[in-house]
Amino acid sequence: MKRIVTTTVAGALIAGFAWAGVPARDAQAAEIKWYGQAAFRIKTPGGKVIVIDPFITKNPKTPAADKDLSKIGKVDLILVTHGHGDHLGDTGKLAEMTGAKVGVNADMGHTLRILGIVDKKQLVRFNKSGPINPIGPDITVTMTHAEHSSEIVHKGPDGKEGIYPGGEPAGYVIKLEDGYTIYHTGDTGVFKDMELINDLYKPDLVLISIGGWFTMDPAHAAYAITRLLKPKMVIPMHFGTFPPLKGTPEALKKYLTEMGSKTEVTVMQPGEEKAFGK
Ligand SMILES: [Zn+2]
Repeated sequence: MKRIVTTTVAGALIAGFAWAGVPARDAQAAEIKWYGQAAFRIKTPGGKVIVIDPFITKNPKTPAADKDLSKIGKVDLILVTHGHGDHLGDTGKLAEMTGAKVGVNADMGHTLRILGIVDKKQLVRFNKSGPINPIGPDITVTMTHAEHSSEIVHKGPDGKEGIYPGGEPAGYVIKLEDGYTIYHTGDTGVFKDMELINDLYKPDLVLISIGGWFTMDPAHAAYAITRLLKPKMVIPMHFGTFPPLKGTPEALKKYLTEMGSKTEVTVMQPGEEKAFGK
C-alpha cells in the first residue's frame, strides 16, 4: 500500500485517510526531507540517515532555519553524485561534523582526500554498478550512469581557484531495509539505459532533475518517467534554484498527462519533510 505522510504540515494523508492536527509519523516509512536543488536527507525505516548532495549553506532555496548543518543531526552516509558545487556543497563540513561515511566515485574520492576535503577513513570509493552495503547489510547502494560532467572547482588556502578531477557523474539507487527503492538521478540528461535501471531495481520513487539547461527539462523527464523508468512516484528536483533552471513541476505534470503516465508527482517545498513507503 502506498503511504504519503506529511510530517511538517497538519492535515496529512495516511493510507488514503485525511489526518488533521498532529503531525503524522509512520515508524515503517522512510522520511525524506528536501533542501532544494538535489539535496535530500533520507531517514530509513531502520533509523539510518543518508544525505545526498548536501548543497545547503549556500543553497538559495534552503530555508534559513535549515542552513544550520548541526540541525541535520546524525548522518550515517553522505552520497555525492558529482563534483559541481551545487552537489558537493557542504560535504566536507558535514562529514567532519557527523563522522559520516562519504560515498563517491573512486576518482573523486582521491581528489577529496588529496585536497583535504574528506578524511580518508570516511571515504567509500566505489564505481558504477557496485552494489555495495556501506552502512550495514540491509541497505544497498548502487551507483548508476548519469549523462553529465563532474569537475571540482576548489579554492585553496591561498584563495586561488583550481580545477580538479571529479571522476564520472552518477546517480544512486538506494534499497532500504523494507525493500523500498529510491533512485536519485543526479544531474543527467535522459538516457536509454534508464530502462536498465527500471529492469534491475524497479525504483518505487525517483528523485528526478527537471530544471533543464544542465539536466533533463520537463519534457525529457516526462519521457524518462513514462517510457523508461515507470516508477510509482517521482519528486521533481534541480529546478528554480538559479535562473537557467526554468523547468517546473507544473510543466512536468502537463507532459506526463499528455503521455498518459500513471506515475504520481509529489511536489515538495524546500525544507519540507514527508514520509514514503510501499
Ligand atoms: Zn547541478
